[in-house]
Amino acid sequence: MYDFAYRKPATLAEAVQLLASDPDAKAISGGHTLLPALKHRLNKPSMLVDLTGLAELRGIRREGNAIVIGALSRHAEVAGHALVKEAIPALAYLAGHIGDVQVRNRGTIGGSLANNDPAADYPAAVLGLGATIQTSRRRIPADEFFLGMFTTALEPDELVVAVEFPIPEKAGYAKMKNPASRYVMAGAFVSKGPMGVRVAINGAGPCVFRQKEMEEALAAHWSPEAVAGIKQSPEGLNSDIHGSAEYRAHLVTVMAKRAVAAAG
Ligand SMILES: Cc1cc2nc3c(=O)[nH]c(=O)nc-3n(C[C@H](O)[C@H](O)[C@H](O)COP(=O)(O)OP(=O)(O)OC[C@H]3O[C@@H](n4cnc5c(N)ncnc54)[C@H](O)[C@@H]3O)c2cc1C
Repeated sequence: MYDFAYRKPATLAEAVQLLASDPDAKAISGGHTLLPALKHRLNKPSMLVDLTGLAELRGIRREGNAIVIGALSRHAEVAGHALVKEAIPALAYLAGHIGDVQVRNRGTIGGSLANNDPAADYPAAVLGLGATIQTSRRRIPADEFFLGMFTTALEPDELVVAVEFPIPEKAGYAKMKNPASRYVMAGAFVSKGPMGVRVAINGAGPCVFRQKEMEEALAAHWSPEAVAGIKQSPEGLNSDIHGSAEYRAHLVTVMAKRAVAAAG
């Protein structure tokens, strides 16, 4: 690990100011992605700005027809929260199946979204429910947030403050996980509700994406059979030691079917 300065601001304004003052400064929340990168000397920030003291980034609440989840909410908190379990059980299920118990008790939704790992779980729920990301300077619809592998619409000094999830009529999530890390090989989050019918695929490609052909089929007829015959092209999908692009393409259909069945 390289040396770095450490600051723990008490307000969101102070955190943003610290990040804006130094282009090599980096925010840290749960540290479950950033700390391993620092330990392997893959990242060399001049300063770590610890967000865990920011009250503005905390809390899970209902606002009208949406559940708003503060960026510092840990995966275990989301999985166990009564409001989330009642309003969007598929989201509680997803959070409860991220990594292992240590990861779920340290990792945060804000950190996961800012990182945008292609194999992460939360991006599927955010895109699959048509959520809105509230940041320190604006509101970003899910369709404009995920730009590519480990890339989002966030500016370097812009922080995720909360995520606003519209409450769906139905939603379901299924993933094939890597047995060692529990990261997603391919997953599908499906929903029907105020944002229409949405199908988000994670793990399979370099970035979470919407499967429009499946969305159209489900809009016409909501059932697992509606997506069973839809084949995902392997072109552009990830191919690595864990699985080929063809295998991941096959998994997309299987996971979508399971997600629709889970949604009911
Ligand atoms: C063994 C292991 C297994 C895992 N398995 C899974 C899995 O199955 N599924 C899955 O989805 N994830 C998995 N993860 C990742 C885990 O969920 C991470 O905790 C998460 O991706 C990052 O959240 P964090 O709070 O730890 O972020 P940090 O490590 O603190 O930060 C990650 C990045 O986000 C930035 N950041 C942090 N908070 C904010 C914010 N509020 N606004 C803007 N930028 C911010 C940081 O600057 C950094 O670039 C796993 C991790 C480990 C170590």
